[in-house]
Amino acid sequence: MPSTVEAMLFTAFSDRLTKCRKLSTIQMHKSISIIDSPDLSDHSANGLFFDCCNAGVITIPDISNYHFRAICCECSNLKSVTIPDTITKISEFAFTNCINLTSVLIPENIISIEKEAFQGCISLKNIDLQNSRITRIEDSAFMNCGLIEVTLPINITYLGENCFDKTVLLHVPEGSYAEQWAYDNYYDYVTYHVHKPIIDPAIDPTCTGTGLTEGEHCELCEEILIAQEVIPALGHTEVTDAAVATTCTETGLTEGKHCSVCEAVLVEQEIVPALGHTEVIDAAVAATCTETGLTEGKHCSVCEAVLVEQETVPALGHDFQLTEEIPAEVGKEGLKAFTCSRCEETMTETIPALKPTPEPTTESTLEPTVEPTTNPTPEPTAEPAAEPTPEPTAAPTAEPTDEPTAAPVPAVLPGDVTDDGKVNIMDVIRLLKKVSGWDVTIKESAADVTGDGNINIMDVIRLLKYVSGWDVKLS
Ligand SMILES: [Zn+2]
Ligand SMILES: [Zn+2]
Ligand SMILES: [Zn+2]
Ligand SMILES: [Zn+2]
Repeated sequence: MPSTVEAMLFTAFSDRLTKCRKLSTIQMHKSISIIDSPDLSDHSANGLFFDCCNAGVITIPDISNYHFRAICCECSNLKSVTIPDTITKISEFAFTNCINLTSVLIPENIISIEKEAFQGCISLKNIDLQNSRITRIEDSAFMNCGLIEVTLPINITYLGENCFDKTVLLHVPEGSYAEQWAYDNYYDYVTYHVHKPIIDPAIDPTCTGTGLTEGEHCELCEEILIAQEVIPALGHTEVTDAAVATTCTETGLTEGKHCSVCEAVLVEQEIVPALGHTEVIDAAVAATCTETGLTEGKHCSVCEAVLVEQETVPALGHDFQLTEEIPAEVGKEGLKAFTCSRCEETMTETIPALKPTPEPTTESTLEPTVEPTTNPTPEPTAEPAAEPTPEPTAAPTAEPTDEPTAAPVPAVLPGDVTDDGKVNIMDVIRLLKKVSGWDVTIKESAADVTGDGNINIMDVIRLLKYVSGWDVKLS
């Protein structure tokens, strides 16, 4: 058949091929895409290869959009048909009365066999449809065949009237539509088991557990259809857990290991106890008269934490003890001298002068005679208020008597125990310290102001009176 032929219409060909009794082999080119018959009402008079008695073997090409209808009926020499995979349906009357047809291979894609398709194929003894996907076999499809045994598939949902002769032995899947049909229609039948596969899901392997590949077994008979295979365990993925350093107050950890996939602990981290503080004593500092002290404290030499805080002890303040007192007199201030019992600090305090009644006269007569000798050169700065008026009148009478003793003044100025050329309160303090037993230096030749040959408290009093403006003499 020429390769340019793309379609064959049943009517167009039937006239030519009908009764071509000398046609022994027919091969159709693949470019043919449609073989059809628009009107098949009279199949006995039509058919693509109708009554082509010499065509023993027909190979039908593997083409799509292809309705396989009434193609070979009445071909008495046809023995074998190979039907391509693309065909899904064997049409009405396709092989009717092909009396020598002994073998038909029904491909997997055929889902239905139409009315009378194989009727009268008396040489057809066995048909095994077990592995086909056929769902329907229409009325009289295999009527008047010589069929001895037919095996039907599990997915049959319809079997037409008289589609097999009653003499046939049917092999039907247990529990299937076909079994029920055979029973209902009084056929001889035997059942066979068709597995009902159930998937055995795959199991992923873990670090420590094996896995399984996907498998399959029959839900009805439990037979394993696809065996599951063991997948070895994966093994742990080790990760190091870093050690944690221990401190004085916090626990540490040893290095450990775990699996980053399943979190399993492979090497447990152990707790290392806290070290505890290393105590160091912070010595107490004694408070003094003027400076604060500290209590004893403690701290850690490792982490510097303060364990016992040092507390501030207030300064003690001076403990002044009265060491000397010069009583006040009428018109004359007194003096108190104090020394701290802990440190060398001293302090003086004046005692207000007593209020006089007759004093004004006594004082004025006394002072003029005394003053001149007391104020040679150093005094002017110390006693400016008291002296300016008395001096002019007193000087003439006082000076003549004192001058003979005043002559050695340049060498020793009585009362100038500090030897600074002046007689003032500084000399009183220095002398007071000396007679109180302090380790101070005095100019001894100027100290015995009473002239009694001793240096004692009497000299301090005399000197104090003197610098306070009293009418006393220094010798
Ligand atoms: Zn089974
Ligand atoms: Zn793991
Ligand atoms: Zn510490
Ligand atoms: Zn003190």
